[in-house]
Amino acid sequence: MSARRILLLGAPGAGKGTQAERLCKTLGVPHVSTGDMLRAAVAAETAVGKRAKAVMEAGQLVSDEIVIALCEERLSEPDARGGFILDGFPRNLVQAEALDELLAALGAPLERCLAVHVESEELVQRLLKRAELEDRVDDNEETIRERMRVYEAETEPLLSYYRSRDLLREIAGAGSIEEIARRIEEALGRP
Ligand code: ADP
Repeated sequence: MSARRILLLGAPGAGKGTQAERLCKTLGVPHVSTGDMLRAAVAAETAVGKRAKAVMEAGQLVSDEIVIALCEERLSEPDARGGFILDGFPRNLVQAEALDELLAALGAPLERCLAVHVESEELVQRLLKRAELEDRVDDNEETIRERMRVYEAETEPLLSYYRSRDLLREIAGAGSIEEIARRIEEALGRP
């Protein structure tokens, strides 16, 4: 596995977070999740957290300005120099272009984009189940449907963005965590 600057793309519930954490351990690179950073900001009641809270609860996207700044700060830290797994960012074309610019300025372009595909009814079922287990305010049925709609409208177009740069590898997201992890490792190994 040679790529170390990796983006994971996938709908809410596709299992990106789980796979990102595994992959970070395997590769020894940080997990950069804008969702985690925003939840931490909300919990700490920072200025960013206060601006993001209601938007997140509604299942909508936090402003590009906020998430681009968060991501820029995080990727500029020394531990991200050896690589990173991006999870939840970029979520639209404006963010994707900002990421390209930022990484170009750091002299460290993205090497791989892995898209994890799961059928939409399965996604809703998984998220409803997670809602019972965890205490995420955005895991109720109405918000889940809104997050799926936002994903299809805003984030799915990024598949062709990364495909046209020949960075995209597609992963079937059905199966056990281990099976999917193996597919991801294979996809990273392939040139
Ligand atoms: P999921 O992938 O399960 O929807 P995340 O943890 O990635 O969850 O994100 C949770 C919420 O945080 C999103 O619904 C959105 O409101 C906000 N968020 C996270 N990342 C971004 C981003 N890159 N741009 C805008 N909003 C974001």
